[in-house]
Amino acid sequence: MKLLSQSKLGFGMMRLPRGEDGEIDLVRTGKMVDDFLAKGFTYFDTAYVYNGSEVAVRKALVERHPRESFTLASKLPGWLMEKKEDADRLFEETCTRLGTDYIDFYLLHNVTDEHLEMYDKFDCWSWAKQKKAEGKIRHFGFSSHGTPEMLDKVLTDHPEVEFVQLQINYFDWENEKVKAKEMYDVVAKHDLPVVIMEPVRGGSLASLPDEPAGLLKKADPDASIASWAVKFAASLPQVMTVLSGMSDEAQVADNLASLSDFKPLDAEQSKMLLDIAGILRSYPTVPCTGCKYCVDGCPMKIKIPAVISALNHQRMFGSSPVADKKYTDAVKDGGKASECIGCGACASACPQGLDIPELMKEAAAVFER
Ligand code: SF4
Ligand code: SF4
Repeated sequence: MKLLSQSKLGFGMMRLPRGEDGEIDLVRTGKMVDDFLAKGFTYFDTAYVYNGSEVAVRKALVERHPRESFTLASKLPGWLMEKKEDADRLFEETCTRLGTDYIDFYLLHNVTDEHLEMYDKFDCWSWAKQKKAEGKIRHFGFSSHGTPEMLDKVLTDHPEVEFVQLQINYFDWENEKVKAKEMYDVVAKHDLPVVIMEPVRGGSLASLPDEPAGLLKKADPDASIASWAVKFAASLPQVMTVLSGMSDEAQVADNLASLSDFKPLDAEQSKMLLDIAGILRSYPTVPCTGCKYCVDGCPMKIKIPAVISALNHQRMFGSSPVADKKYTDAVKDGGKASECIGCGACASACPQGLDIPELMKEAAAVFER
């Protein structure tokens, strides 16, 4: 395998801490970046479409540390392209926002059957090879929430791809929709390194109901619930980097503790996590990752992932003041679930294939009673 030399833990810059004004808190982000670098980790992942993230990366990282002391990953949003030349424009904008003239790891963002058409139409593959030849891109890859079949075809057609970023965690490993194991196996078959996103599934594996949480606490009373998820991902042999989208200092500290002096999980520990995934799957919750791809297109400005998160709490723990509070917070600055007009824009953007209009009906019935 042409495993690219990288530290195991990557800093996902998608969910950075924000102040009351909604702006990214650069002081806190800078401190989190410093702690991360101080432990010898170097990989920072952002994207053109992560709201304010690229500029925050420049201010909190690029302008404060020598360029050769870290590596940057960012992504081309093919769905925003209308013509071939847009690749150059979007790439240059990313470089300007980041304050750099090269990107270490540049990805086509979310290659799915739908987006692949665009990336092929504008031949972003040849474009990336050209950028690599110019030294503007150091390594070229793509992220994907697609299918194993599509992934296999793309990797067969494009030997220029050097790495692939996939959603992998112990809950999704055998999940019929995400098919994380199958996706991972395809990349392993092509002998390429994997960058893992969503190892904690947008935070849903950071706290668990009593029964599975008890199993983890019994196995290691000192380890956090989230650390098991990060270690599961990092233990896969093909993995180059595990991205963790860190939003506060405690998450940084927990991740640094999990992966400093890292030892892979043994077979028994991995099996325990897959058994726990089975227990969780037996609860009727909605497998929303909190990616927010559904949010921008909603004409009623419903904060869909937050509403679903409240619904999940209710489904798992029953009606409670905590679930009600989560819902009240979710609709404070946006539309209520009952205001959904059923247009379906959200469902077609959702990588998890969720029937969001139906979920909004359920949330309205549960919380607006
Ligand atoms: S179906 Fe409902 S929740 Fe989805 S985008 Fe339309 S109004 Fe928003
Ligand atoms: S509903 Fe789907 S698109 Fe929206 S945040 Fe959840 S997983 Fe992402």
